[in-house]
Amino acid sequence: MLVLAISIDYKNLNKEIKMIGLLDIKNEAHFSKELASDPITAIYPREVTQACFSFSQTKKPANPELVHLSEQFLAELGVAADNKNELVGVLSGAETFHDFKPYAMCYGGHQFGNWAGQLGDGRALNIAELPINGKNWKLQLKGAGPTPYSRGADGFAVLRSSIREYLCSEAMHNLGIPTTRALSLVKTGDLVSRDILYSGHPKDEQGAIVCRAAESFIRFGSFEIFSARGDKYSLKKLVDYTIKHHFTELGKPNKETYLHFFQTVVSKTLEMIIHWQRVGFVHGVMNTDNMSILGLTIDYGPYGWLEDFDPEWTPNTTDSGHRRYRFGNQHSVALWNLTQLANALYSLVEEVEPLQEILNRYTSDYHVLYHKMMASKIGIFTASNASPELISELKSLLSKSEIDMTIFYREFSKEIKDFDAFWKVIILASYQNKEALENGINAWQDWFEDFYAVLKKEAIESEERIKAMRAINPKYVLRNYMAQLAIDDAEKNDYGLLDELYRVLKKPYDEQPEMEKWFAKRPDWAKEKVGCSMLSCSS
Ligand code: AMP
Ligand code: MG
Repeated sequence: MLVLAISIDYKNLNKEIKMIGLLDIKNEAHFSKELASDPITAIYPREVTQACFSFSQTKKPANPELVHLSEQFLAELGVAADNKNELVGVLSGAETFHDFKPYAMCYGGHQFGNWAGQLGDGRALNIAELPINGKNWKLQLKGAGPTPYSRGADGFAVLRSSIREYLCSEAMHNLGIPTTRALSLVKTGDLVSRDILYSGHPKDEQGAIVCRAAESFIRFGSFEIFSARGDKYSLKKLVDYTIKHHFTELGKPNKETYLHFFQTVVSKTLEMIIHWQRVGFVHGVMNTDNMSILGLTIDYGPYGWLEDFDPEWTPNTTDSGHRRYRFGNQHSVALWNLTQLANALYSLVEEVEPLQEILNRYTSDYHVLYHKMMASKIGIFTASNASPELISELKSLLSKSEIDMTIFYREFSKEIKDFDAFWKVIILASYQNKEALENGINAWQDWFEDFYAVLKKEAIESEERIKAMRAINPKYVLRNYMAQLAIDDAEKNDYGLLDELYRVLKKPYDEQPEMEKWFAKRPDWAKEKVGCSMLSCSS
């Protein structure tokens, strides 16, 4: 057993050196050592005060089976998969990670705009804190049984939602988007009852566990819960801890540092939102308990990918009334959520103005970054060359002509010399029939002329421009129907498609001609199918 914390540069490992096994790494707890724990260790639902977490236990699964392992993530960590039998024990919650005591984190949150009080990890358990390459990775099992935060729910997760989280976390990482990672997917062999349509007809589904990883799972709601309870002492402890471990460069905590901390969280969140808008990702449940303090995409529930460019679209059935979490509103919701975080931090700063200034800057920065991102998607890399009207008219046309976002931008990342060539892209990417589409041809022609005039001003060589466009306009994204096909097979114990999608999404910007079938519009059958168009929160 190797007892040293490893700091190996895995890229330079030569083949003679045996890579350290994941289970050989010794835990180095920060969170659960430095922060206050709930003194009660029994597992029953309760309010937990003056504590950041509760020790809890995983439930022993009936018949754990390792369905998939993210070899890419392990390779990036420079860690070997060890003996798979031993690994599945730990990754299914059957065994502990050495003598590490699993714990569930305490947090609150604003859900759909309302303060919901204490939420916490109702079905997630941290099972390790591992020092790897200078970082401290928290491993968390999602669906390993009830915790003190489970409220009325069971603490488990089903296979379909676990596949969606597993595939999407890794896909997002490969798209270059900050996210929690997924290490493994395990079936528990237990049945879990879920009413997927909330129609009063629950069904037994296969239970599963994703092991997800991040440097921290602290959320906006982790701070809000202390502020809501007027517990300034615990709030300060958690903020100071977060700065010490995750915002080290900010230095010793004081009022100024707290403001820098907030500013950094605002910038990271903004960066994440711009990425989501770039690739057409709709999170679906941007409650403040689902907002990572590190600006990571977290909690993959009823998410979706924009297909027919409807900015009003939300994949979440629970949100279909107000569409709070619709694609086109994600930046505003992020600001609203950041405002809740500012409120929570207020008692440490004791001044409204500097917090408000930071929030105001979010809005102006958003417009600049959004314009830059949108211009670069159409190959205009000197953002000032593109007028705001050029971008807004494009969005309006994409929407009116029901254009598939991924296909349009990718096909546009080619040498397009005239309107005829451009129109072929529109036909290929539109969900409308020819007749309906042709009603908009004149508007498209006008837009293309304006665009072409701007393009001529760009100093960049065409080949270089196309290369740069292809690096930001993905060819492959995890459309809901693709995930659903993998789920349908996996429920019948066939994991071939799951693995195929995992592999194609490893290189979303590469052509991968053998995977061309996944570069296609959503098929008609998927338009209304449960799990493909809209999703419930049942998971
Ligand atoms: P979510 O909408 O998935 O972010 O979940 C909101 C809250 O509900 C979090 O506190 C979760 O831990 C909790 N939760 C969701 N599903 C379950 C479940 N099956 N068992 C226990 N808690 C759950
Ligand atoms: Mg959540």
